[in-house]
Amino acid sequence: MMKYSGFKVLLEGLRGNMGWKPLWRNPDPKKSYEIVIVGGGGHGLATAYYLAENFKITNIAVLEKGWLGSGNIGRNTTIIRSNYLLPQNQPFYEFSLTLWENLEQELNYNSMVSQRGVLNIFHSDSQRDAFVRRGNAMLMSGADASLLGVDALKKLVPFLDFKNSRFPIKGGLWQPRGGTVRHDAVAWGYAKEADARGVDIIENCEVTNLLVKNGKCYGVETTKGLIKSKKVGVCVAGSSSQVMGKIGINLPIESHVLQAFVSEGLKPIIPGVITFGAGHFYVSQSNKGGLVFGGDIDGYNSYAQRGNLPIIEDVCEGGVALMPMIGRARLLRTWGGIMDMSMDGSPIIDKTKIRNLYFNGGWCYGGFKATPASGFCYAHLLATDKPHNDAKDFLFNRFERGRLIDEKGQGNQPNLH
Ligand SMILES: Cc1cc2nc3c(=O)[nH]c(=O)nc-3n(C[C@H](O)[C@H](O)[C@H](O)COP(=O)(O)OP(=O)(O)OC[C@H]3O[C@@H](n4cnc5c(N)ncnc54)[C@H](O)[C@@H]3O)c2cc1C
Repeated sequence: MMKYSGFKVLLEGLRGNMGWKPLWRNPDPKKSYEIVIVGGGGHGLATAYYLAENFKITNIAVLEKGWLGSGNIGRNTTIIRSNYLLPQNQPFYEFSLTLWENLEQELNYNSMVSQRGVLNIFHSDSQRDAFVRRGNAMLMSGADASLLGVDALKKLVPFLDFKNSRFPIKGGLWQPRGGTVRHDAVAWGYAKEADARGVDIIENCEVTNLLVKNGKCYGVETTKGLIKSKKVGVCVAGSSSQVMGKIGINLPIESHVLQAFVSEGLKPIIPGVITFGAGHFYVSQSNKGGLVFGGDIDGYNSYAQRGNLPIIEDVCEGGVALMPMIGRARLLRTWGGIMDMSMDGSPIIDKTKIRNLYFNGGWCYGGFKATPASGFCYAHLLATDKPHNDAKDFLFNRFERGRLIDEKGQGNQPNLH
């Protein structure tokens, strides 16, 4: 197994970097496993790791139709935070943030966890009241939060358009422990440690059907043959409705495209993550200097991993309204990922009505920050058949019972969450 240390970096520098090895094996699938996880994104790999680490279950395959990092785990804008309001969400995301804080040591892998702070700007008195309420909910669950006035903002982010009469800046909710993490390195770190514990990670292996008999799931059909399994955990993000649809399960989830943007490299200017409160725009600066930003999803349903021009215009308008200087930067790249948008904007980690078949999805925009806690809680469910305490509300039956977890208060319109 590959072990990283400062000494190893020095040693490899001296001997021409010839000693680095692949982080995970490339095994052929076995005929059967104890648990098969469908989808080798961040959540699937984290689940495999925590199953092996916390429950010592290692007879596991993670089946990925592409390569590791090809899905949303390698396409997101890398923001982590726990600034939620609702009691069903806040403890879960705070738990996730605490897992992020120790992740690099736990996985012995540099995923550039950088707690440079997340700032949500507000522009009206009523928005300030809502942010005060959210900040108090954060403090009550053990998270960090403070309210900054205009003077403090002028010191922290002097380049914002404070004179904008249409969207006056009145302050911001600041979470210092929020920040960014290098997204695909998270997949690689979890893959490395899951593999080291015996998990088979099988790339280029698409699950083409779920095998079900007498109301019980007993394996999967794949492009590399049939694989039997005592339990199957589906974890395919934007492809959730396609995979579950193969056995006629209709999910309370729609798929939409979300785009991300990166500018040319600039000198350090953005101290943390900044979100605009009068439109949908958020921005941070990568370690290479590019401004990384995003905004709304494309309005129509799609399984295509690419977006369209109207959203590019919309996001750039938001950026220029908040910080006019961004208009001088050149846009280098844009790309899209397929988002699993649930009806209430909150996720599902639950058993299905088919025995031995489990589901994790509906992460909307916010699944990257959830990766460690999602894997931790899904592993708990797969191993014990009981929901983890921090994810006990992320169940299918909330849609039957009307107990929705509508963090944004948008109602049942998935593209607005
Ligand atoms: C542009 C963009 C910006 C975002 N920004 C943020 C952010 O800043 N902060 C945040 O918290 N969240 C963000 N998100 C959301 C976050 O990235 C996702 O919610 C999260 O990554 C989803 O979980 P995952 O990593 O497991 O998904 P994925 O990486 O998409 O994993 C699912 C995997 O399943 C595989 N798969 C699909 N079908 C099959 C099949 N039939 N057989 C086998 N494998 C299959 C796919 O190839 C894919 O690799 C963003 C998303 C996008 C697209």
